[in-house]
Amino acid sequence: MRLSFERQLIADYGRKLVQSGLTTGSGGNLSLLNREENLIAIGPSGIDYADVSAQDVVVVDRRGAIVEGRWKPSSELSFHLALYDQRADVQAVVHTHSVYATTMACLHREIPAVHYLVAFAGKKVPLAPYATFGTPQLAESVKKHIGDSNALLLANHGLVAVGADLPQAFNVAEEIELVARIYYQACSIGEPVLVHDDEMDRVVEKFRTYGQQDNGRK
Ligand SMILES: [Zn+2]
Repeated sequence: MRLSFERQLIADYGRKLVQSGLTTGSGGNLSLLNREENLIAIGPSGIDYADVSAQDVVVVDRRGAIVEGRWKPSSELSFHLALYDQRADVQAVVHTHSVYATTMACLHREIPAVHYLVAFAGKKVPLAPYATFGTPQLAESVKKHIGDSNALLLANHGLVAVGADLPQAFNVAEEIELVARIYYQACSIGEPVLVHDDEMDRVVEKFRTYGQQDNGRK
């Protein structure tokens, strides 16, 4: 089986995606790029993540042609491909419809530095304008707006998180959902006080230097 390690990880993290409440059923999707082989393992389209095994995960090339697998790849394959083209540091993409991040995406609001943990994405989480799911237009929009951020809100749709590996991208998706929830709750009581821009520069640098293991959450 081609990319057996990557395919098992996609199956494992698919279950984690459901267990963590970041998505339900077959919503959202995950992929992992093996740069040496220049191949991508991506979840299948329309199958509940709880039921996906390594064999169900599809292997495609960098243009999206199926190399191995019995199912169709995720309908969002095109923006996964676009992200790997756009960012040499990205080897994993996690896409969710997690409720609080998606709430902000439906308000067309970026997530500002309401909590220092937004640094998992950068100084804020930017927003890509709406485009129909599964289209080249959405892939273009994602490519255009990701910048150097590790997370991006998709207007009226959801969240995309990226990382050097799958645990990292998954972690970004989880932490940004937490920050989105805090932002939502803070906005429902009053006007959130944001972390100062200079301080966010320091925090982003600290995350970069010490890695995401030492982010003050332990
Ligand atoms: Zn989606």
